[in-house]
Amino acid sequence: MLLELEHVAAAYGPVQVLEDVSLSVPEGSAVGILGANGAGKTTTLRAISGTVRVPSGSIRFKGNDIRGKRPELVAALGIAHVPEGRGALANLTVQENLRVGAYLRKDRAGIESDIAFLLDLFPNLERRYGSNGSALSGGEQQMMAIGRAFMAKPTLLVLDEPSLGLAPSTAKTVYTAIARLRDETGISMLVVEQNANLAFSVVDSAVVLETGRSVLTGSTAELRGNDEIRRAYLGG
Ligand code: ATP
Repeated sequence: MLLELEHVAAAYGPVQVLEDVSLSVPEGSAVGILGANGAGKTTTLRAISGTVRVPSGSIRFKGNDIRGKRPELVAALGIAHVPEGRGALANLTVQENLRVGAYLRKDRAGIESDIAFLLDLFPNLERRYGSNGSALSGGEQQMMAIGRAFMAKPTLLVLDEPSLGLAPSTAKTVYTAIARLRDETGISMLVVEQNANLAFSVVDSAVVLETGRSVLTGSTAELRGNDEIRRAYLGG
């Protein structure tokens, strides 16, 4: 297993938000996290990245215990997190954002070929290559944030609601590119998404969170066939 969470709890100061979350991401697979507003999806990603306190449970990545580890260390082990709200640098150009993502890498040729791959994957970024992040549309900022995270050459790409705030057609474009990124690189993914239809276009399996607990895990096909999931997350 690439990533494994067992009975994870998490708290902001005294406020416990996650009670009992378990999930796993097999090497090379894409896993979704579904759940209503406030269920704890974002907090689960923060627990993995080391930006929220995890008083109990275990988090293992490539066999290392990463619970409570600093975010820089988690990133250096190969987890790149694209936060909700995108986390791209508004005062840098697209080009600079992508290169910042690669700052720990020494393989110059690999960096150049990864940039070429991303510009082919996201033609908007090629058109906007010299523009500041702040001048981009919401969809372009999302593409840039994904690109920047990919440039770190992570083993696991963690995406927090890539569709958030995007028009439906833009969200679809972003997901089509995420699916291609996955197919062509074999990168593993963990994707938080409220829109299950979009998530199911990319993931192999998903876990459902309710008020800080993982309550159901299944393959995409199993979850599509589940009446409760259909009602709650697939619009009937
Ligand atoms: P959303 O789709 O709204 O982002 P989510 O499933 O990602 O929902 P979280 O963002 O993980 O949910 O939030 C879970 C709970 O934790 C919510 O009740 C939220 O109010 C609370 N919470 C989030 N951030 C903080 C914080 N910094 N301090 C205290 N409570 C927080």
